[in-house]
Amino acid sequence: MKLSLVIPCYNEEDNVELFYKEVNDCFEEQIMDYEFIFVNDGSQDKTMNKLKKLYKQREKDNIKVIGFSRNFGKEAAIYAGLQQAEGEYTAIIDADLQQRPQVVLSMVEILDKEEEYDCVAAFQDKRNEGMILSFFKRAFYKIINMVADTKFVSGASDFRCFRKNMRLAIISMSEYHRFSKGIFSWVGFETKYIPYKAEKRNAGTSKWSFRKLYKYGMDGILSFSIAPLKLATYVGTICAFLALVYMFVIFLQKLMFGIDVPGHATVVTLILFIGGVQLFFLGVLGEYISKMYIQEKKRPIYITRETFGVAEKKEEDELSDKKE
Ligand code: UDP
Ligand code: MG
Repeated sequence: MKLSLVIPCYNEEDNVELFYKEVNDCFEEQIMDYEFIFVNDGSQDKTMNKLKKLYKQREKDNIKVIGFSRNFGKEAAIYAGLQQAEGEYTAIIDADLQQRPQVVLSMVEILDKEEEYDCVAAFQDKRNEGMILSFFKRAFYKIINMVADTKFVSGASDFRCFRKNMRLAIISMSEYHRFSKGIFSWVGFETKYIPYKAEKRNAGTSKWSFRKLYKYGMDGILSFSIAPLKLATYVGTICAFLALVYMFVIFLQKLMFGIDVPGHATVVTLILFIGGVQLFFLGVLGEYISKMYIQEKKRPIYITRETFGVAEKKEEDELSDKKE
């Protein structure tokens, strides 16, 4: 198998069939050997029915469908897809046709020709988003690159194609809070970035609200940096130092001038300030502990309800488990 396409789908009933057709038309005579791995991420619409239909009507045996028991998020869907991929190369692509299959062809071509690269990632050189959103996105990349050791390339999406070695490396990272932009760069491997233009969504709406994006961004920072924790140490040290200096000043004043410090306002302000700082960092600590708590439970990243095209393999696995 040359290429596996991993396609996360959440409420994409009007897109999956067209997507399937477009890819087949585009790949015709270019790549002979490729497979679709559709992951239905607990859609509430008819996506699963459409996928089942595609599976039943298939001409070649190159469709796998994984249906989740509920919505686990795009990251979980990608993870499930990668686990089932069998291709020499694996590409991750959205179901809404914003990312054209032609771009995947050029990615494959690059991997074929340039052996030094293990991954080709597409980035949007021009974003057709609102000013505010793109401002926040740029700010996010500035901050995360400042605080994290892993490098994040602004605008690089998870629209990418990589070799098997990289796929296995990504699967080996079985963390629960998945932030794939970070995972891709954490595992290393030479990556080539190519620009692409995101088309308009074919049908349906984007699943990203500002709130979801904020949460996702925070997940990214908390998963790939402990800078917020270190900040607590720095701020704490500075506060303690300032307090010492102030204490010394008051002491001298008292000794030399015998003035009583008229200090009610100062004391109240300081108590509030220190209290605020302490609570803030208690919160930061809480964020990390809550992540540890969830991870420690070792809950699965996703749960499947039904699968097509991958079932036989699983049953075999279960049988061999029983034999052991
Ligand atoms: N998606 C998913 N699970 C989710 C949200 C999104 O599998 O919880 C899929 C969605 O079906 C699409 C891709 O992830 O194929 C990208 O989502 P979307 O188009 O909403 O994001 P955008 O393109 O607006 O960034
Ligand atoms: Mg989209």
